[in-house]
Amino acid sequence: MTEPAPRGRFLGSKDSFDEGKIVLFGCPFDAAVSFRSGAAEGPGAIRTFSDVLETYSPDLDADLDDLPFFDAGDLALPAGETEAALGAIREEAGRIIAAGKIPFGLGGDHLVSLPMIEAALEAYPDLVVFQWDAHADLREDYEGAVLSHATVMRRVVEKAGAGRLVQFGIRSGRREEWQWMRGEGTCRPLAPEVVESAISELDGRPIYLTLDLDVLDPSELPGTGTPEPGGVRFHDLMLCLGALRRKAAPIVALDLVEVAPRIDPTGASAVAAAKAVRELLLALPV
Ligand code: MN
Ligand code: MN
Repeated sequence: MTEPAPRGRFLGSKDSFDEGKIVLFGCPFDAAVSFRSGAAEGPGAIRTFSDVLETYSPDLDADLDDLPFFDAGDLALPAGETEAALGAIREEAGRIIAAGKIPFGLGGDHLVSLPMIEAALEAYPDLVVFQWDAHADLREDYEGAVLSHATVMRRVVEKAGAGRLVQFGIRSGRREEWQWMRGEGTCRPLAPEVVESAISELDGRPIYLTLDLDVLDPSELPGTGTPEPGGVRFHDLMLCLGALRRKAAPIVALDLVEVAPRIDPTGASAVAAAKAVRELLLALPV
């Protein structure tokens, strides 16, 4: 079997930062996982497998060739230094926002969302976070670590305040996490009509979308560090992304995380992630 040639940029990327109203960049970081690593290889595999796809989306009737987006490649993150890596991600997201563009971070494990969201909050103080995920990610700590993919949304709630988090597709968490979510009413099913009404309720407030791909059923996305049975089907995810486009969801920054390609040597997970990235790009309000 021949190995696919790695790609420097995602399918359909423009050639320069200036041409992009959306700037994609990889965050090859997976030091904060609880079970299996490999998400650091996500951005590279997603780019490589984007080669399989067409630039045109029949579902959205839209084409990457018409979209001003630029894939800036992977950030060089210091190995073994979580705080410094998060700082570099925050700085890059902030730089892109300051240039009037939409940053799109490719993980990496879910902790990379924390600096992305911090940067977005600075520019958009009334930001609301949409979390599409199998897991609550609301632990106070994970085996003593306060910075983990299992604690990331707790840290976001601490920063952003109550009422800023809307969670979709959650099906796993500790009892305390579920008590908190039920008390706050943050949880909803991941379904297109639910996404549409959640956007309408916001009345134009800016949205940060974090897509932890383990929200999908492991039968369709086995290549992820912490698979959780009972997830939505890929087709349903596509319908939800269509809902974002239909509603012109005011997404100002976003990420896609938790794809660990080495866990799925068939490549099916990487190509599913690449297709989700294409549809997400085409759903953005540019
Ligand atoms: Mn997560
Ligand atoms: Mn998850």
